[in-house]
Amino acid sequence: MAQTITAVRGTQDVLPGESRKWQYVEKTLLQTAGQYGYRELRVPVFEQTGLFLRSVGDTTDVVQKEMYTFDDKGGRSLTLRPEGTAGAVRALLEHGLYNDALPVKACYVLSCYRYEKPQAGRLREFHQFGVECFGAPAPSADAEVIALAHNALRRLGLQNIRLELNSIGCPTCRAEYLAALRAYFADYKDQLCATCQDRLERNPMRILDCKSPVCQAIAQNAPKMLDYLCDDCQAHFEGVKARLNAAGVEYVINPSIVRGLDYYTRTVFEFVSTEIGAQGTVCAGGRYDGLVAEMGGPQLPSLGFGLGLERLLLLMEKQNCPFPAEQKPHLYIAPMGEAAQIAAATYADALRQEGFCVLTDLNGRGLKAQMKYADKLGAAYTLVLGDDELQTGAAQLKNMATGAQTPVKLAELTAAFYAVTKQTALSQLEESAARFNKE
Ligand code: ATP
Ligand code: MG
Repeated sequence: MAQTITAVRGTQDVLPGESRKWQYVEKTLLQTAGQYGYRELRVPVFEQTGLFLRSVGDTTDVVQKEMYTFDDKGGRSLTLRPEGTAGAVRALLEHGLYNDALPVKACYVLSCYRYEKPQAGRLREFHQFGVECFGAPAPSADAEVIALAHNALRRLGLQNIRLELNSIGCPTCRAEYLAALRAYFADYKDQLCATCQDRLERNPMRILDCKSPVCQAIAQNAPKMLDYLCDDCQAHFEGVKARLNAAGVEYVINPSIVRGLDYYTRTVFEFVSTEIGAQGTVCAGGRYDGLVAEMGGPQLPSLGFGLGLERLLLLMEKQNCPFPAEQKPHLYIAPMGEAAQIAAATYADALRQEGFCVLTDLNGRGLKAQMKYADKLGAAYTLVLGDDELQTGAAQLKNMATGAQTPVKLAELTAAFYAVTKQTALSQLEESAARFNKE
């Protein structure tokens, strides 16, 4: 046998038995964002490499180590998107979306690509749900974006996720802070890891984010950005906290959140869990007041977040969050012989038009094998279609749970099926209504 080809390291399949979980999560997130006025934006998987160099920032880990960059056959340098904000800003500018009433609110579900060391909750192809709110400078926007993430996580049934909040100021107050930070870390230069020694000149704030225990210990007593905020940034941060308090969104201040991407200003936040191992940040985001202008657009203070769907699903499994049940067939039609098989396909289609899920035999199996199959599929009803049934135009509709049989006329199968199963269809509707109301 020829050797089989396996999936690329750090990528993951979503199999048919699991996909409904993804569909449910994506739908819930998009619906929640929709309730805040966000509409979906779809951008390409690859962009010009320069887009990410400029937006994500060329001193970041993402740009320095993690990007999937390649030349296409036309010699253009392209990069598979490592995150969603850059493409969203590009689309905003390219299509002049900022000429609409502000803020412009866009959300997305997309795959991202980063060349990282694969482990639980860390993949090379992963998926993010994200929102971007363009043109909203006031603290109420920060509070609303954070509340959106908070409510979406709650709606999915998640608990015990800590919201960590910080402000990293604006370029003006940060300059003074960076000088203080450099001076502090310079005293420990020899003890810092190689990466952080490098960061000392270029981007000392990133040292606060280092995972090395030695760097972490040194960082413990480093100056805090919160002590260096200018009056405007301080007032903004107070405004965000006051609104979160009013909304009942709990948070803790974590002065060492700096975020891995260069474009952040003022508010930064993470939703963190301790239940899925080291990769516990489920959702992360913040404000990026300068980015749109830096990318050649107008001055447009903006903010957003990205929520990692693989980590979210890991956590939902861990916490036994409810997922909607698999769609089971309403009916399985078991035809005997070719004429019945053709008729079965027609009846099945008519019922599908009505919204029912109907399966029938495609493999010419015998009756016993078909009933076993119907059972395995979890069909609510079955209908045997043989020569007799075709001749008389009548058949028995069998309720698989109770065994009860109801005679039906094939010419009126759709109406009859609807009459018999109305209860089932109704109770399903009620169930989803109850679920919605509970939220
Ligand atoms: P981390 O500190 O875990 O590397 P990050 O700061 O690089 O995260 P962001 O760029 O802010 O992450 O992306 C937002 C979210 O996307 C993260 O909070 C996480 O849930 C998810 N995420 C990031 N990188 C990966 C990855 N390689 N695999 C799976 N999910 C990821
Ligand atoms: Mg990372």
